[in-house]
Formats: sequence, C-alpha cells, structure tokens
Amino acid sequence: MSDFRVHPTAEVSGQASIGDGASIWHQAQVRERATIGPGCIIGKGVYIGADVSLGANCKVQNYSCVYEGNILEDGVFVGPEVVFTNDRYPRAINPDGTLKVASDWELQGSVAKFGAAIGSRSVILPGLTIGRWALVAAGSVVTKDVPDHALVAGNPARQRGWVCMCAHPLSVDLTCPQCGRRYQRKGAGLDTLES
Ligand SMILES: [Zn+2]
Repeated sequence: MSDFRVHPTAEVSGQASIGDGASIWHQAQVRERATIGPGCIIGKGVYIGADVSLGANCKVQNYSCVYEGNILEDGVFVGPEVVFTNDRYPRAINPDGTLKVASDWELQGSVAKFGAAIGSRSVILPGLTIGRWALVAAGSVVTKDVPDHALVAGNPARQRGWVCMCAHPLSVDLTCPQCGRRYQRKGAGLDTLES
C-alpha cells in the first residue's frame, strides 16, 4: 500500500492509481484507471476523469476538471476552476434526436508538459499541447498549441511574451529580471541557455 492521503469525503476509484505522498482533498473525485503521480495535490472538488494521467508533483486547485483523455506531465500547476475539455465537436444528440453514446464521439485530450502552469478559470480545448514551463494567464481560452516558455492570455489565447521557469516574464533579450536565467530560441519555444 502506498503512502498517500485521501480525505474521507473524496471519492477515489479502486481502479485508480495514487502515488506516494499524494493528497486528495475534500469532495474530489478520481475516476477509474486514472493515475495520480507521487506528490500530487488534488484540491477540493476537483474532478479527474477516467484514464487521465498526472505525473509527479502536480497541483490541481479547487474545482478544476480534467476530463478523460487529458494528460498532465510532471510538475504541472492547474489553478482553480480550470477545465480541460475533450470533445471538439460537442453535441448531446445525433441528427435524428437520439442521445449520443460513448461510441458516437471522438475523445480528444490535450497534454500539459513538464512545469507548465494554467491560470484560474482557463479553458483548454481538445487536442492541444501546452509546452514545458508555459504559462496560461487566468481566464484564457486556449485554442491552439502553446510553445515551451510562452505566456499566453485572452480568448482566444494569444502569445504575449515569454516566461522563465520561475514564472516571471523575460525581458526582450530573453533574460529573467527576477532570477537571471537566460534562454534561447528552440523550435517554436525557448530553452535554457547553457553558460
Ligand atoms: Zn526567472
């Protein structure tokens, strides 16, 4: 038995896997076959859908919903009341008015990569990649991929700049005024500059 904490009011499926040191707080629900990595903190009222995978040391704040098909890598921060969606073509019913069932729609999740942070009340549309250490500002609606270290905001979310591992915005020369780390362009995003 691993060493984790589940509040008595949380509902964790017996088929879920919970890592050592994880905490699952009041009234959270973790569905079948979900994986919660070691050290994760799952806040009050959070919903973690079936088969969802969270890496180590993620923080998911109160009332966020991570629906089936989504993946969080290690160290992802999810602010309060964020929604990770999974249906790009949502309908309750078929054209003939009959209720859609699971086989009538295509599940499509997103992945939030190592160290990424999602501000409160943001919505993540299906099938996207949120890059390493990227920062999604509060209240954003993310409709396309977010590069590593990008800062995006708004609806639809647009890139406003770059952020450091420490989450502070970088200056135009890609240096962090807060911690002094330096970066260089790599692909669509940034990487740390070895020095
Ligand atoms: Zn920094």
